[in-house]
Amino acid sequence: MAENNLKAEEANGPSARPALSRLPPYNAGVPAAVARRISGKEEVICLGSNENPYGTSPSVGAALWGLVPSRYSDSTCAALREAISDRLGVAAERIVCGNGSEELIAALCRAYLEPADHVLTVSPCFGLHEIEPMAAGVQVIKVAMTEDLDFDVEGLIAALAKVPKIFFISSPSNPVGQALSGQALSRLADAIQPGTIFVLDEAYAEFVAKGLPDGLAILNHRSDLHWAVLRTFSKAYGLAGLRVGYAITSHPGLARTIRATLTPFNVNAVAQTAAVAALRDTAWMIEATTRLRYDRDILADRIRRLGLRVIPSQANFLFIALPMNAATVAGVLLQKGIVVKPWMETGYTNFIRVTIGTAEQNEHFARELEGAVNLR
Ligand SMILES: *Cc1c(COP(=O)(O)O)cnc(C)c1O
Repeated sequence: MAENNLKAEEANGPSARPALSRLPPYNAGVPAAVARRISGKEEVICLGSNENPYGTSPSVGAALWGLVPSRYSDSTCAALREAISDRLGVAAERIVCGNGSEELIAALCRAYLEPADHVLTVSPCFGLHEIEPMAAGVQVIKVAMTEDLDFDVEGLIAALAKVPKIFFISSPSNPVGQALSGQALSRLADAIQPGTIFVLDEAYAEFVAKGLPDGLAILNHRSDLHWAVLRTFSKAYGLAGLRVGYAITSHPGLARTIRATLTPFNVNAVAQTAAVAALRDTAWMIEATTRLRYDRDILADRIRRLGLRVIPSQANFLFIALPMNAATVAGVLLQKGIVVKPWMETGYTNFIRVTIGTAEQNEHFARELEGAVNLR
């Protein structure tokens, strides 16, 4: 993993902003090529980054054939925003697209944070909800999840009274997997002060079972607040490598402000074309997410039968408590050609997060995990 030794490298040159040397590194998944080299195996199983094991809709490849790479992409992402607008029933002027939703997390911080501000999030959290505000030089307050790794709604309401400039929360939670109930989300929305932007990161929205609350639908009734819901094509639609995500905002002005901090051609032409095609093929996405949900529940049962604690998940991954340091176990699995993500955040370093793969990959993982926790 990359070390943050930016300071040392610049000893003889202009100094970077001090905030940068304090950043925790982003805990990115081990790439397949590295896993192949370490394990010596041709076939490795990548369950570290919540990617879609079924790839993407076949219509994506077809849509890309006519693309002319010599032309600049559409800086307004008009076709993609129209397609999202049609799908969600939200005006296109309230939608802004990013080079992955991670770019929009950075853009929000760049647009709104000043040194005296602070940001609120939870722990454990999605790394960038902490890293990007820190890069902007502001303090990040984290409210720990409860003992059973559910959202501490009371604690968050108390922290919201101190008016963080931005409140970042993912639901379903990455890494935990649990989703906010409709009631919890409404209570949080009620506690938002006029000086706070509520950022609900719904990277896993498409995995949430029918009948459970849709965060966007709930916030869409709240034009009294400033909010942004983040979604992505990386997970359910299987386009992680192309980098495309979007924000739906409470007001057009918020979308314009976010847009103002982005580079003009931030979403490339391949990504825009692919995302429109992927969005049209809802049937493919629904089939993939339905299968992954089903296999997730089978894997959760399987792991629980090993005697391990598995947190209930609404997403395409499981957060598993181990009786030992998770990095050690992840290292043993890597030797076997299986990539998972050991959690690095203080207080959670005995948890691994494993992405749901195909049924066969899940079973392979379960067998090797059993061996690894006994450190055979
Ligand atoms: C994966 C993920 C993202 C990043 O998605 P990209 O669109 O690939 O940048 C954002 N938020 C959460 C919670 C995620 O898990």
